[in-house]
Amino acid sequence: MTDLSRTAANLDLADPLAGFRDRFRLREGLIYLDGNSLGALPRATPGRMADAVAREWGEGLITSWLGAEWSTAPRRIGDKIARLLGARPGEVIVADSTSINIFKALTAALSLRPERSVILSEKTNFPTDVYMMQGIEAFSGGRVRSVTVAPDAVLDALDENVAVLLLTQVHYKSGLVRDMAEVTRRAQQAGALVVWDLSHSAGAIPVDLNGANADFAIGCGYKFLNGGPGAPAYLFAAARHHGAMPVLSGWFGHARPFDFDEDYAPAPGIERFLCGTPQVLGLTALECGVDLMLEADMAEVRRKSLRLGELFVEAMAPLCRDHGFALASPADADRRGSQVAYSHPQGYAMIQALKELDVVADFRAPDVLRFGLTPLYLRYADVVETVARLETVCRTRAWDKPAYRERAAVT
Ligand SMILES: *Cc1c(COP(=O)(O)O)cnc(C)c1O
Repeated sequence: MTDLSRTAANLDLADPLAGFRDRFRLREGLIYLDGNSLGALPRATPGRMADAVAREWGEGLITSWLGAEWSTAPRRIGDKIARLLGARPGEVIVADSTSINIFKALTAALSLRPERSVILSEKTNFPTDVYMMQGIEAFSGGRVRSVTVAPDAVLDALDENVAVLLLTQVHYKSGLVRDMAEVTRRAQQAGALVVWDLSHSAGAIPVDLNGANADFAIGCGYKFLNGGPGAPAYLFAAARHHGAMPVLSGWFGHARPFDFDEDYAPAPGIERFLCGTPQVLGLTALECGVDLMLEADMAEVRRKSLRLGELFVEAMAPLCRDHGFALASPADADRRGSQVAYSHPQGYAMIQALKELDVVADFRAPDVLRFGLTPLYLRYADVVETVARLETVCRTRAWDKPAYRERAAVT
């Protein structure tokens, strides 16, 4: 046993979160480091889904909108997610996808700054965030401009034209964590509003939206919240912004949807950010993941995530020296979210070779190997074992196969 595996074994024995692993269905032998892209399946989910389908839908049919509380699920689950985000009940709603919620939040922010025209972000933000900005610009007929700058030039680009700043708190590739309170303060000082993308934050690091005086936030349900593939996303709007007029003015955001009024009148609270009929089955699965996450102490989750990351970096040191890996995440653990990333010219082929050895991580263009650290179901021993298998891949040149030279459609 190496020193690192002994360290890992001791950490696992003393791990207060160790019991959570059994609450997920994970195949024996598999090391799953992609929970930041699609979270694992909670054991409670299949039974709950079967009940929602057979009893609530099959037997209850339309009466389940009230009887099974389908109609209030977006708000009920939003209130639960609010507890992970430092938000108050009534400030978070669950609906649609993250991309759609980016559109809702940006357009709401624009309507609150009618004299300003710029949506600002950073060039390396997650592509859909920037694409949504560009779509709004194209639709606006010249009223709105989408501007992206280098990641470290964001604060300097805040001028009197910026209506809203869109930033991701934990960068999807590098894992870099932005100082939400400081950036929000600087943006608001310049008269702008901020939309925070929390896709890699919720369930991964402690978040305090109201502590940071945040305006809007959005994020995914299928990553660290373990809500299942395509799970609905969430949207936070600070209570002071609930007067903003929704552009996606669908009937479910109406003050009284079942009056079937001829004219739109937004619901007074966060419900105005709903659009169409809630995705009930997706919400059902998401709630299982969120309920499980709420059982864990977020401070404990962060502590373990930091230690997993440090162990990973320590184990990788010889590979950086001998096999050409370079850390692509901040070296300082406090500045990393719940992932570590390395760059390597053969990154794509190596991720494929790791899959053959039952280690699932992902590749992000152009050369990044990304390892998601999910403290609820990852063991310290898994981290050490992952690096051992990666060393095998390098030593045996298992990555050097013709099949790994073509990139698959989904990485
Ligand atoms: C995963 C992710 C998304 C995904 O958006 P969808 O609409 O769910 O596809 C958006 N933004 C960031 C920062 C992400 O990491």
